[in-house]
Amino acid sequence: MIAQYIRVGSIDEGLKVLEEHRPWGRVLAGGTDLLPKTRTARHKRSLPLVLIDIKRIDELKGIQMKEGRLCIGPSTTMSQLAGSELVLEYAPVLSLAAGQVGSPEIRNRGTVGGNLGSKNTGADLLAPLAAMGALVEVRAPGGTSEIPVRDLLAAGWQGLGRSSLITEVRVPVNRQVTWGYRRWSRESMGRAYITALAGLEPRGDDRSCRFTAVLGGPGLWPRTFECQARPGELSGQEPMLELCSRAAAEIFAAAGGAGGDYQFQIGRVALAEALELAAGEVGQ
Ligand SMILES: Cc1cc2nc3c(=O)[nH]c(=O)nc-3n(C[C@H](O)[C@H](O)[C@H](O)COP(=O)(O)OP(=O)(O)OC[C@H]3O[C@@H](n4cnc5c(N)ncnc54)[C@H](O)[C@@H]3O)c2cc1C
Repeated sequence: MIAQYIRVGSIDEGLKVLEEHRPWGRVLAGGTDLLPKTRTARHKRSLPLVLIDIKRIDELKGIQMKEGRLCIGPSTTMSQLAGSELVLEYAPVLSLAAGQVGSPEIRNRGTVGGNLGSKNTGADLLAPLAAMGALVEVRAPGGTSEIPVRDLLAAGWQGLGRSSLITEVRVPVNRQVTWGYRRWSRESMGRAYITALAGLEPRGDDRSCRFTAVLGGPGLWPRTFECQARPGELSGQEPMLELCSRAAAEIFAAAGGAGGDYQFQIGRVALAEALELAAGEVGQ
């Protein structure tokens, strides 16, 4: 049940109102994840939610480059992320992932902060942000912290309390690395069943590369696998699929077999397709 709606105009005001309405206060950004949830029978019966609308807070908007990092305001929509010239220049894989979220309507409303805050293991931005070593700035009544996305994922996104606001997402730019992203969904314009991210960073003179793989999806918080890949493993579909099968096996084993064999099979193929994308860029 939605008991109250409050629009706030600054981060400080948002934090104050969140604290006042604990434990029922909920940050509202685009609402594409939160609002459908409030219509479920459980929510209708039980929770007197107070929606705290942050869309008018200017400090939470915009994308800029600062000190070698792409700094993304959490109220940036998926459409804005996908179309940003800065993102296309410095982190094109983020644009690729954002452009595959839901439908145009969802992308026009859904935000970066909401994608992270939704705590959906298959959210499309999680794998690219984890792979690129992104950090999330979080403000809470106790102060400001900067938390690596990978740490939040490892903790099942427990690091964000009900009184916290994501105030910026910072992505270190490393133009040596090429990335590929693939996702697979059971339905068109639906949430991903598998998100797969591959990254290649050339190392040494023999054309070997540091290979980064991330897989996520329902029941599987995105997990990262890294290894040194030899040139022979990075050309041709068969060797690439073999490398990605090994990476997927390690990831699923570390996750305690989450998702089962079906998700694993799709995961290794999606990862190989992501690797082909990344490898295709290496020689350019
Ligand atoms: C039909 C449909 C299809 C979808 N398809 C996809 C898809 O393909 N891929 C995908 O990843 N997602 C998908 N989604 C989920 C959702 O649209 C996206 O995750 C979107 O990015 C959520 O953003 P939002 O601004 O609408 O979040 P909201 O609904 O406003 O918020 C989501 C959660 O994040 C919290 N939150 C929002 N902003 C902040 C902040 N700054 N600080 C702290 N907490 C915050 C909210 O409190 C809430 O708990 C889909 C949803 C629908 C309804």
